[in-house]
Amino acid sequence: MRIAGIDVTVDWSLLIIFALITTSLASGLFPRWHPAWSAATCWLTALAAAVLFFTSVLAHELSHSLVGRANGIQVKRITLFVFGGMAQMENEPERWPAELWMAIAGPVTSLVIGVLCVLAAGIGASAGAAAQAGSVPALEQLLAGLDPGRTLLLWLGQINIVLAIFNLVPAFPLDGGRVLRAILWGVTRDLRRATRFASALGQGFAWLLIAAGIAMLLGVSLPYFGSGAVNGIWLAFIGWFLNNAALMSYRQLLTRELLQDLPVRRLMLTPLETVWPDMPLDMLVSNFLLRTDQRAFPVMEGERLAGLVCQRDVERIPAAQRHSTSVREVMKPLDQIVVAHPGDHASEVLGLLAQRDINQVLVVEDGRVAGLARRADILRWLALHGSPKSPPG
Ligand SMILES: [Zn+2]
Repeated sequence: MRIAGIDVTVDWSLLIIFALITTSLASGLFPRWHPAWSAATCWLTALAAAVLFFTSVLAHELSHSLVGRANGIQVKRITLFVFGGMAQMENEPERWPAELWMAIAGPVTSLVIGVLCVLAAGIGASAGAAAQAGSVPALEQLLAGLDPGRTLLLWLGQINIVLAIFNLVPAFPLDGGRVLRAILWGVTRDLRRATRFASALGQGFAWLLIAAGIAMLLGVSLPYFGSGAVNGIWLAFIGWFLNNAALMSYRQLLTRELLQDLPVRRLMLTPLETVWPDMPLDMLVSNFLLRTDQRAFPVMEGERLAGLVCQRDVERIPAAQRHSTSVREVMKPLDQIVVAHPGDHASEVLGLLAQRDINQVLVVEDGRVAGLARRADILRWLALHGSPKSPPG
């Protein structure tokens, strides 16, 4: 599905939470609010509520993406999964105001949807009318008086407000944590220090959730979260997920910083073994693939680069047919391969490798092969130059 030029994908794990929400509304909350409703009414309202809930999560993510795009941050894809939504950015914000506006757009959208839904449910109006008639209604009476449409709006409204508040907790990489990081970044002019502080808070919050989840698992009842093993496991699981996300975002930043000013010419493999188009594949295997640790070979037609052949291309041909198959038949021709330039930064090249799901890219300068930039070499460089292994703090 594409919305405003952004791919929207739905992860299978979303089905779990979809079923969970529908079931808990249909068999728990709605029968409690409306003892008079039939089972069919409960289930249909619950189903509609779950669909609208994910629509509002999508609206939250889309608002991040659109505000991001207006500030020069391209969003490639939005994934809806078990914890809600996630927008995948092609590039991180380069200035703190861009990050600030992009981060705050989501919770503001949720808050607006929430308040509008609660107002539309009109529970305030019915309470006022009842008070004018001289009776102060109990909450149960008010709720029982709502039809399915207004019940749905009321639930959708409060869940969106909860979503906005949860996302505003200053725990990186939650939206509130990004807002905090943007402000600290603006004040200190130091993205790394801002990220370290915001992710330390994020980890602290994550451990709090895990502790609360374990307490609930042991039978303790907490305000708002309630009690029970299922809720406890769920809360601990969210905490664990947040903790990982906080750690990972910080490591990614350090990696990117380490590789930022490193031109790929400093770690590319060079000189390269090259092959020719008419070479049979069995010769490529015995004389090249088995005798070097190079896994991709430029194919040269005389002085001219004709393409690239990789181990993966050879593996697709059965061993018995390799003596009668030439390199030309399996190689990727020049117009189909991605190339890098010696001056490209290693961080860009690493991004390119991840994006294309490849292990190496040919480095070309003025039409001539300069070397091969490989993922393994970049990772080795990181290991030798202080790639962070310890948690922040
Ligand atoms: Zn958000």
